[in-house]
Amino acid sequence: MSDEPKRRPILSLKNPPKVVPPAAAKAPAPPAAPPPPQHDWKCKPCGAGFSIEAELEDAVVIRCPSCNAKLGTVGDFRTDPLPTKVRARPLRKAG
Ligand SMILES: [Zn+2]
Repeated sequence: MSDEPKRRPILSLKNPPKVVPPAAAKAPAPPAAPPPPQHDWKCKPCGAGFSIEAELEDAVVIRCPSCNAKLGTVGDFRTDPLPTKVRARPLRKAG
């Protein structure tokens, strides 16, 4: 007389399959990204871009907003050709 316990079936709860996001769902970039600000000039010492406001007087000294280097006066920037003492380069795109 054997008292063998009955084997019970193993109940296993299967987890629901994980939802795999499709690769196409990855957006490369938001479409409504604002364009970078356009600068008129580029600081020679540090390369930062900046603009000169039109209402400034010619005697106003322009300093780089990034490295604070003295780049020249507004009058210098308005001189054509640009004086060699001006420590900035014009950023003018063709077209
Ligand atoms: Zn600078």
